[in-house]
Amino acid sequence: MLNRVVIVGGGTAGWMTASYFKAAFGDRIDITLVESGNVGAVGVGEATFSDIRHFFEFLGLKEKDWMPACNATYKLAVRFENWREQGHYYYHPFEQMRSVNGFALTDWWLKEKPTERFDKDCFVMSSVIDAGLSPRHLDGSLIDQPFDEGAEEMHGLTMSEHQGKTQFPYAYHFEAALLAKYLTQYSVDRGVKHIIDDVSHVDLDERGWITGVRTGEHGDLTGDLFIDCTGFRGLLLNKALEEPFISYQDTLPNDSAVALQVPMDMEKRGIRPCTTATAQDAGWIWTIPLMGRVGTGYVYAKDYLSPDEAERTLREFVGPAAADVEANHIKMRIGRSRNSWVKNCVGIGLASGFVEPLESTGIFFIHHAIEQLVKNFPGPDWDATYRNRYNDAVSHVMDGVREFLVLHYVAAKRQDNQYWKDTKTRAVPDGLAERLEKWKTQLPDSETIFPYYHGLPAYSYMCVLLGMGGIDVKPSPGLALTDSAAAQREFADIREKTRQLTETLPKAYDYFSQWH
Ligand code: FAD
Repeated sequence: MLNRVVIVGGGTAGWMTASYFKAAFGDRIDITLVESGNVGAVGVGEATFSDIRHFFEFLGLKEKDWMPACNATYKLAVRFENWREQGHYYYHPFEQMRSVNGFALTDWWLKEKPTERFDKDCFVMSSVIDAGLSPRHLDGSLIDQPFDEGAEEMHGLTMSEHQGKTQFPYAYHFEAALLAKYLTQYSVDRGVKHIIDDVSHVDLDERGWITGVRTGEHGDLTGDLFIDCTGFRGLLLNKALEEPFISYQDTLPNDSAVALQVPMDMEKRGIRPCTTATAQDAGWIWTIPLMGRVGTGYVYAKDYLSPDEAERTLREFVGPAAADVEANHIKMRIGRSRNSWVKNCVGIGLASGFVEPLESTGIFFIHHAIEQLVKNFPGPDWDATYRNRYNDAVSHVMDGVREFLVLHYVAAKRQDNQYWKDTKTRAVPDGLAERLEKWKTQLPDSETIFPYYHGLPAYSYMCVLLGMGGIDVKPSPGLALTDSAAAQREFADIREKTRQLTETLPKAYDYFSQWH
C-alpha cells in the first residue's frame, strides 16, 4: 500500500493539503508535515475565489467555526479602480449572469444601455457592495433563501445547500497565516505528525526518486509520496528533482510586491465586501478588508519601478494608519513548473506555480491541485496515467488564468505612461489574439474562451471587456431584430431586487461583529 506522505512546508499550501488529505483518507493515510522554524510563510491577507467554499465544506467546517479565528470577511466581487481612467470603477462580481431569450444580459445591455454602468444594470451585487452590506441577514439566512428554522443552530446550513441554488455565490477574505494555524490544529487533531525543523537535504535513489528528506534535529523523514509546499523555493520539485520552471514574465511582467498589514477600526471604516484592485503607474494596489485590519500591497514590475518608490506610493495610498507598520517586500516567481508532479514528488502552492493575485487565484490553485491529487492518487504501481492527468489539469488551470489576467491589461483603456503603453504592444499568450478578434464581434461565451477548465466562466471575460473599456465590443446583430421587452423586464427586476436588498441587508461589519 502507498500511504506514507511527507509534506515539506507549513504555509497555506502545506496545511490545506494535510487537512484535506485527512478529511479524504482518514487514518488510512500516514502524514508527516515538516516546516521550518526559520523560513517564514507568505501571508499577506488573502482574497479567494468562490470555489473555496467547497474546501471548508469538505472539511466539515461551518463559517462560524473558522471565520472568526481567521479575521475573515465575505468577498462578493473584485472592484477595479482607475484601470480605464482616474475615478472610474467597476465590479467583477461572483453573481451568476442572467440570460434572456438565449442572449447574456450583458449582450442586451450593449444594445439597450439602461445606464452607463453595465455592472449595476446587470448585477444586483454591485449596489450591495457599494453600500457595504453582508450577503447574509443577521439570522444567518442568505439573500435568496429564508433561514431554515429546522437547522440545528444559526449558520448551520452547508454552503452547497445554499450555493447550489443561489444566484449569489461569494468567497472570503482571511489572514492566510491564521488559516494555516487553524488548519494545523485541525490536522494534528486528526493524526498528522507535525515537525518544526529545517530540511537540509533531499535523498534520491538511483532512479532519481525521493527516498527521504534530511532534517537538522529529527533525522531522515522517509515516505512514499513527497509534497513540496516550500513556496517559491521549490526545494524538492525544482531544486532536488531539477524540474524546469516556465516563466510567464514575457506576458505578465509584474514580478514584485510590497505588502502592509494595517490595523484599523473597521467599525468606523466599514467593510466593503470586495477586494479592490486600484491601478497604479507600474501595476496595481490590492485592498483586502479583514476584521481588525486591512491587508494591502502594491504589485509592480521591477523593470518600471524601484522597491523604494513602490513602498512610498503604497504608504501614500494608505495614509497615516500605516506609519508604524513594517513593509514586507516580496519577489514573486511568476509562471509554473513544467510538471508539478514528477516521479514521487508533487509541488503544491507557490512551489507549483503562481500568477499575480489580480483575480485571487493563488489559493484556488492550491485547492484545485489537492482535489486533483485526491482524484488521481497513485497506486503502488505508480501508473503514469494518473500523474499525466494531474499535470494536464494543473497546467491548464494556470495557463488559463494567465490568459485571463493578460486580458485585463490588454483591455484596460489606460495608456498614460510607458508601463501602460507597453501593455498594448507586448506579446500575448498563444490563442488570446485570435480569441480577442472573435470577442470584438460577439461577447465571449463558453465556446470561445480558453478551452480547458480554469475556474472562470464566460461572464467573467465579459466583465473585463465591458469594464476595462479599451476594446470596442458590440451587441450580437440578431438583437436588433429581437423584441427587448423581456430584457427590459429583467433590468427592472434587478433594479427592484437591488432596492429591496439595500434596504434590508445588514452592514457587513455588523454581521461579523456578532462573532467577535
Ligand atoms: P509559503 O507561504 O511560502 O510557505 C512555504 C513553507 O515552506 C513555509 O512554511 C516555510 O517554513 C517552509 N519551508 C521553506 N523552506 C523550508 C525548508 N528548507 N525546510 C522546511 N520548511 C521549509 N493567493 C490568493 O488566493 N489570494 C490572494 O489575494 C493572494 N495574494 C498574494 C499576494 C502576494 C504578494 C503573494 C506573493 C501571494 C499571494 N497569494 C494569494 C498566494 C498565496 O499567498 C499563496 O498561494 C499561499 O500562501 C501558499 O503559499 P505556500 O504555502 O505555497 O508557500
